[in-house]
Amino acid sequence: MGEAKTHYEVIVVGAGVAGIYQIKRLLDLGVEATVLESAPDLGGTWYWNRYPGCRFDSESYTYGFSFSRELLDEWHWKERFSSQSENLRYLNYVADKFDLRKAMQFNCRVEAMRFNEARDLWHVKIADGRELTCRFVSLAIGLLSAPTMPRLEGIGDFKGRSFHTFYWPHEPVDLRAKKVAVIGTGATGIQLIGEIADKVGELTVFQRRPNWSAPLNNSAISEEEMADIRSRYDDIFAACALTPGSFLHGPDSRGFYEVTREERLAQWNKLYDEPGFGIWHANFREIFMDEAANAELSAYIADRIRTRVRDPKIAEKLIPRDHGFGVQRLPLETKYFEAYNRDNVHLVDIGETPLVRVTENGLRTSERDYEFDIIVYATGFDAITGAFDLIDISGIGGETLAEKWKQAPSTFLGLLIHGFPNLLMPTGPQSASASTNFPRGIEHNVNWCTNLLQYMWDRGYTRADATREAQERWTAHVAKMYEIMLMRKAKSWFTGYNSNVAGHEEGNVRYFLYNGGTPKFVAIANDVAAKAYQEIAFSSGERVDGQAATVSASA
Ligand code: NAP
Repeated sequence: MGEAKTHYEVIVVGAGVAGIYQIKRLLDLGVEATVLESAPDLGGTWYWNRYPGCRFDSESYTYGFSFSRELLDEWHWKERFSSQSENLRYLNYVADKFDLRKAMQFNCRVEAMRFNEARDLWHVKIADGRELTCRFVSLAIGLLSAPTMPRLEGIGDFKGRSFHTFYWPHEPVDLRAKKVAVIGTGATGIQLIGEIADKVGELTVFQRRPNWSAPLNNSAISEEEMADIRSRYDDIFAACALTPGSFLHGPDSRGFYEVTREERLAQWNKLYDEPGFGIWHANFREIFMDEAANAELSAYIADRIRTRVRDPKIAEKLIPRDHGFGVQRLPLETKYFEAYNRDNVHLVDIGETPLVRVTENGLRTSERDYEFDIIVYATGFDAITGAFDLIDISGIGGETLAEKWKQAPSTFLGLLIHGFPNLLMPTGPQSASASTNFPRGIEHNVNWCTNLLQYMWDRGYTRADATREAQERWTAHVAKMYEIMLMRKAKSWFTGYNSNVAGHEEGNVRYFLYNGGTPKFVAIANDVAAKAYQEIAFSSGERVDGQAATVSASA
């Protein structure tokens, strides 16, 4: 596994979807590279999140890697929206097929990284005490990999079992006849609740704010259907490349106000009953920007909820009032609303009666005590920058990334950070990968980063640093894109909100997503490459008094 080596040309941090593809590209080029992964095995998101109901909400065949025809021909996606265990099996299959494990080191948590300005090297400190050096680091650490717990007293006092969904146990959890609490109704809680409602004794859902959600409409994929999909893969990936979200669902080409209300309703009836993100991504563009258009759609979805939930009081509690449909990340659900029609499922509105503390036996709200055998925290993540904050990263002049990003992240294309040379981010804030069908964005970003490395190797450069001006321009561009979006007001990870992390509470909006869509992002990033990376300052050679032997800068 190469643990004895102490220097690599490239260190990739993280063996999830991005890390797997990045190491594949590097090994193909014959580069000395290794992956450091904190988990005991590969898979990232799909290694960790083992809660019941966890699955894609991207169509499986648009989520898989596109780089190998052989892989596409071999793999059979069994469901339109594949489950966590199958997704993990897929990632292992990819790693084994291309012999990638030989370049992966597990149980290696990167604690700190320091840029050595004299030698253009990163020093990477691992929790096991080792310190490695490398020219380049690719931080493939995921968007949603730093789970957060509520800031509640008494979490450690509970005598039953409790866990965050990210850390759902690897061995089966016996839920039968158990009294189970779920805190949180985001995409995770909604998947979990729909799945376990008929498998537990009593299920009590603690909901602070309801989330809009719509049916996933999953189904099996037969051998014949898979053969058809395989024959269309080129078209499928080409279609994904043309839509803003890199999904097969592209926006309605008609204007919201160009069609009649009846035509809009007919379209929404169709989209609601179709599989996947159509109701979000194949809708009229105005729903993301125009309050009135969004309100009309929200009212439509609210009515669909009312038809699915028998008790009108519960139905009203499940309908969001503080934000419109689709301005937060839309969860897709299976039997979620029907779960509340069951006698063993109870909804507690902790917006009205807040959680006060965890007790030895369960949970206390401002109203009463509840007793449980199991408490599940489906309380989300310190999104995107959270995983960066877990590593002590210092760049030029000893500046730390945590300090630089304290108020908000600033990047160039979401791929590079000024003052942190030779640091690549295939899944960073402000790039298109964060807001789109994830692997589609990742493949683009990893290819872009790998091409940049090749460009430097061909010319003997040892340092690449995005210029301050380029970074300021990009960050301003990302912020500007939020101006027209209703999303800018959302209390969700799309705007960097997390009530459980000091400084990330409501009010400090952080621009995490690139809202210009994939085609625009790809065009901009490719243009930067085609114009010889003018926004990046390159240099080479050992430094004397901070001066490089050769310098080729730019912008
Ligand atoms: P989330 O969307 O951030 O939802 C967290 C939930 O926990 C919210 O309902 C939140 O309430 C609640 N919560 C947080 N802190 C709380 C507290 N202290 N007390 C009470 N309630 C609290 O997190 P998530 O559901 O894990 O989803 C995160 C993202 O992961 C998704 O948006 C999606 O991108 C991804 N995901 C994807 C899939 C998939 O692809 N199939 C599945 C699951 C997740 P408030 O709304 O009031 O803050």
